[in-house]
Amino acid sequence: MTDLLPNDTIVAISTPPGRSGIGVVRVSGPASLEIARTVVRNQSFTPEPNRLRLMTLRDPETGDVLDQALVTYFRAPNSFTGEDVVELSCHGAPVVLRLLVDAILRLDARLAEPGEFTLRALANGRMNLSQAEAVRDLIDARTNAAARQASRQLRGELSHRLQPIKNALLDVIVQLESSLEFVEDDLPPLATSENRAKLLGVADELKKLAHTFAAGRLLREGLRVTLVGRPNVGKSSLFNRLLETDRAIVTEIPGTTRDTLTETINLEGVAVELTDTAGLRASSDVIETIGVERTKRATAEADLVVLVLDTSQPLRANDKELLACNNGTAAVIALNKSDLPLCGNGWKNFAHNGAAVLRVSAKTGAGIASLRAALLQPFESSACGAEELLVTNARHHDLLNRACAAIESSLDELDQSASEELILVGLHNALRFLGEITGETAPAQILQQIFSTFCIGK
Ligand code: GDP
Repeated sequence: MTDLLPNDTIVAISTPPGRSGIGVVRVSGPASLEIARTVVRNQSFTPEPNRLRLMTLRDPETGDVLDQALVTYFRAPNSFTGEDVVELSCHGAPVVLRLLVDAILRLDARLAEPGEFTLRALANGRMNLSQAEAVRDLIDARTNAAARQASRQLRGELSHRLQPIKNALLDVIVQLESSLEFVEDDLPPLATSENRAKLLGVADELKKLAHTFAAGRLLREGLRVTLVGRPNVGKSSLFNRLLETDRAIVTEIPGTTRDTLTETINLEGVAVELTDTAGLRASSDVIETIGVERTKRATAEADLVVLVLDTSQPLRANDKELLACNNGTAAVIALNKSDLPLCGNGWKNFAHNGAAVLRVSAKTGAGIASLRAALLQPFESSACGAEELLVTNARHHDLLNRACAAIESSLDELDQSASEELILVGLHNALRFLGEITGETAPAQILQQIFSTFCIGK
């Protein structure tokens, strides 16, 4: 994989934009130490690797002092990227960091592409592809649980889990290939049934892993939940209750919440993005319009819809229209204003298409805990304990499924007593798909695509 690498030196600010206590400029590549010597204006500067040194950094051309910084040298191959790396921990002043990077760019370095430090770590065998992706996931994690899963993957758990599966697959491949060389002899029936059992075991393991994606995706991507309902049923009040802040404006006049409001809450480690659609109605309409079309659109973008109804009022035509317009998105029905008497008997055994129905009061908080639990319930995969390794990445999930399908097609061939060549096609494909997860067999453009989603400096 080293052919992926230009042998030049890259530089970037590795801390986020904006002012901060400390800002780190990272340099990686063969010229790193030379660059450090130039900015500390001491050509014999030979720092001990992995030790901090407090140094004065100067503009190489003018000699002006840029900053006092802690300089750390990591000698190849014992660095994050596997190359010579220098990290300059300066004061987190954007101007200073910019000046320093500009000065280094005038030396023997260029600006790093997004994710290029991690790409170099991958190319130098410091980590595999799924670990590199875990670096990004860890940086992007919005909840503890998501960070925990990313750090498990960063430690290589997914590749460890895949290794015995790949070995079993390889065993079968080797056996079939060796029997190809002795064309006269078919595999004895015993070997065939052993291979069959092995492949079934492999497919089963892959399915189990792929199955964890339902829970894994929730952790990584979170859940989009949209509150819908006609005006004045209490959407904004419920939104605030769920948020436990006063982010949305609550008012007695229907429809004054202007736009959709979105906030994220942390429900059992899942980042739940809540959207209040109270503003989704034509404000100029004299007649109370519920904006069915726009509600439909908001619904289509959601993973789950909370349909809010007001039980202190009769079920209105508008409510029915909303109930009817759900096109298959998971739904929870919140019967709000449970602190007020029920209006009529219709609410008593209210049910709709098997959706969870909960009585709540945004005013008193009654039923809110159950509502929170109900938001996650449709997505909870019973097979996954919280401590299990979860597949959190759609790319990995897709490759696991493809590997599984390839093995199943080989099993079909095996059952039809097809030739070894035919059976091997699926098995080689499966091995390649599994290799793409950890990167051994990932094509260069896939790597580029993955690393383009990283931030600069990572
Ligand atoms: P939206 O238009 O659906 O967002 O409704 P709002 O959240 O603005 O609420 C409309 C009115 O209903 C306000 O006067 C709220 O105080 C009131 N309200 C909301 N939830 C409840 C509830 O659970 N009980 C009672 N009694 N009033 C509520």
